[in-house]
Amino acid sequence: MNAVCTGLVCRDCGTRIPESEFSLVCPKCGAPMRVTFDPDTLRESLKDGLPDYDGRSYLYQWRSVLPISDESLIEKVTLGETETPLLRSLRYGEHRGIKQLYFKIEQGPTLSLKDRGTALCMIKALETGAHTVCLSSSGNNAASTSAYGSRAGLRPVVFVQKQVSASKIFKSLVYGGKVVRIDGDMATASRICNEMVQKKGWYQCGGPNPYRVAGKRTFAYGLVKQLGRVPDTVLIPCGGGAGMIAAFDGFSEMYEAGVIDHMPRLVGVQLEACCPTATAFHEGKDIVVPVEKKPSLSDAIMNNNPYWGKYCLQAVRATGGTMITVSDEDFCLTIRTLGREEGIFTEPAGSVSVAALDKLIKTPGFEDPGVTVCNLTGHGLNSPQVATSDSENPVSVTPSLEAVEAYLENA
Ligand SMILES: [Zn+2]
Repeated sequence: MNAVCTGLVCRDCGTRIPESEFSLVCPKCGAPMRVTFDPDTLRESLKDGLPDYDGRSYLYQWRSVLPISDESLIEKVTLGETETPLLRSLRYGEHRGIKQLYFKIEQGPTLSLKDRGTALCMIKALETGAHTVCLSSSGNNAASTSAYGSRAGLRPVVFVQKQVSASKIFKSLVYGGKVVRIDGDMATASRICNEMVQKKGWYQCGGPNPYRVAGKRTFAYGLVKQLGRVPDTVLIPCGGGAGMIAAFDGFSEMYEAGVIDHMPRLVGVQLEACCPTATAFHEGKDIVVPVEKKPSLSDAIMNNNPYWGKYCLQAVRATGGTMITVSDEDFCLTIRTLGREEGIFTEPAGSVSVAALDKLIKTPGFEDPGVTVCNLTGHGLNSPQVATSDSENPVSVTPSLEAVEAYLENA
């Protein structure tokens, strides 16, 4: 049986509204909303363990815990998303004394973590009869929404800031996104996007949309299913922080339903160049104060005013986790090491969860992190220029076996 969705509840003041009165944020206090399920039917739906993968979209696998009232809509949005791979580390962990290290290759059909949340947002957009879906983003979320929007037969509109290059948004363009380049910064682009949502009734796929987090939380379900147990430590890149909140929601539900016997320690990872949540965590604060960004080779997870920051702090503290920061140098080294030692190519934002391991195991209480999972949130091809340089272009070799052998001996 399916868990019964009981609507949306405000994460701050507890105001409840039914799905039919959908609101992006709490109508009373403006805080983000959470999609909730009846605890009894949720427990019943999970009492025989987590459902098996049946060869179709994971939206079918997880439909018993997703707010999907009409399963026929899955066929209208699916891009063949399957549960993302969980790989045991064969070398990287061993070289650091971490015995049970896993990589969750959280990359969907558009090669990033965004597809889980986007797929559910598209189903909800179709349910509401929307014709246009939109968000403000110049990165993975824009590409994901463009692809799934086009697949669903909707019009995807993506708002970006003035300072953006075609190489940054090429995926959105190819996927049919209508890219609106606002003469201003990203905050201005977000404001205009929200105003168009208000005026035109477009479906907002980004920011606070509670269905994005509800879709993302199947990350936790998939992970427990693949591992056959709950991990002890999970490292999650934190930009806006939705991924952390989604993981916390998913693990919490499974814990309350008796599927897992303890909560994993959730570890958030940010870049030294932009680490407002980590700073607030280590200063013992309950809220996150916006910071000035410093230059970085990564343009993802560089969120100087994270929407979910306060809730990230709560999730990390509630699970006994911590926050770690890593440098550009750390993640560049990690990208190449992962490629060489494990055959995995991840983008900077995804690599930070692995780059943080060296600091984590030096953190008191985390010397032995137990069964540890790093969330690798995007494929390296999303920003390939970070990992290589033209100076690495191989020299040409004379087409003879002797020359090739001589070259390889010296390489
Ligand atoms: Zn509220």
